[in-house]
Amino acid sequence: MKPIKTRLLTPGPTIVPERVLQAMSTHTLYHRSPEFKTIFSETIERLKRFFRTERDTLVLTASGTGAMEAAVANLFAPGDSAVVVVGGKFGKRWKELCEAFGVKPVVIELEWGKAVKVEDIKEAIEKNPNVKGVFIQICETSTGVYNDVRAIGEITSKYDDVILVADGITAFGVYDIPVDDWNIDVAITGSQKALMTPPGLAVISLNEKAKKRLERERSVYYFDLAKEIKNQAKGQTAYTPAVNLIVGLNEALKMIEEEGLENVAERHRILAMCAREGIKALGLELLSEVPANGVTAVKVPEGIDGQKLVSWIREKFGIVIAGGQDHLKGKIFRLSHMGYVDIFDLLTELEAVEFALTRMGYRIEYGISVKAAMDTFIRAVHKRPV
Ligand SMILES: *Cc1c(COP(=O)(O)O)cnc(C)c1O
Repeated sequence: MKPIKTRLLTPGPTIVPERVLQAMSTHTLYHRSPEFKTIFSETIERLKRFFRTERDTLVLTASGTGAMEAAVANLFAPGDSAVVVVGGKFGKRWKELCEAFGVKPVVIELEWGKAVKVEDIKEAIEKNPNVKGVFIQICETSTGVYNDVRAIGEITSKYDDVILVADGITAFGVYDIPVDDWNIDVAITGSQKALMTPPGLAVISLNEKAKKRLERERSVYYFDLAKEIKNQAKGQTAYTPAVNLIVGLNEALKMIEEEGLENVAERHRILAMCAREGIKALGLELLSEVPANGVTAVKVPEGIDGQKLVSWIREKFGIVIAGGQDHLKGKIFRLSHMGYVDIFDLLTELEAVEFALTRMGYRIEYGISVKAAMDTFIRAVHKRPV
């Protein structure tokens, strides 16, 4: 049997709601028109509410990595040092970006699946007086680990010359994170994960402590944040933005507001719990020591090829889940429950995994993970202890 439909359940890009697709299916607006200015200003205001802040929040036409690069290039000078938490693929990206811009990374290397110890960050700052910042992922998507950025913010806020730069590309919109209260000096996200919009937009929000650094000379052109701050305050961008994506993002943010950010976060919390219980019922193990609420990374049982498992699910059922990256290729698979997803999307993923595991010789009773997830769900929505 051939699949008759595709279900996109990777931790980015994620499913785009019909409403967002429809909003984007409009003629392309002239980006200097009053009509676009109104929509863009509205989007910026919604993003500020999303981050629970009043501070400068910018939309860049780039994938998420563009905002990461903008943070390094604008806010750090060659010769600066920065603490970099490397616990997976995206932590590695921070390190590579630092190196590309002459920033010396003081690396805290973690075994993939482990979360950073907050004391280690403090120690690294104390030991290296030239440290001007801390780079971290709130959720390291490659391992499904959540890092306690709130506690890290308490530390970095005590240093006048250290800024906390948090890649929250799979955390904002999964959790309800007030960036000011958590002392996240620079918050970054992207359109194609919890923001339920196609890839192509990056978002960066920065406070006064970070903004002060824009007064220095910097080697930037396209990603000149000072220029963008000036333009975006007037509902404009320095260059032609991805107009249709911005219209889509505005609609997606409207949906998040209608559901309520607290409820969005609660939905993700419950789905993540259901995913973990479903996986445990299969006798499988999570990779992450501190599992995140947007994505669940699962160790593939001994003797089973994880890459085959993922491609088999895609070919037979049209269900697209993610495998592992780098040295975890074939060793894990990742279930996404981020963005426009509900319990039934999750049950689908679990059942597909059951099918594939069985077919590959791992014996389980059909439906066992779905039952565990559903039991968890029912208890959670009725607020009974799990
Ligand atoms: C997806 C993602 C990114 C950005 O990747 P792009 O492909 O540039 O959008 C960065 N960090 C994390 C943690 C991510 O999940």
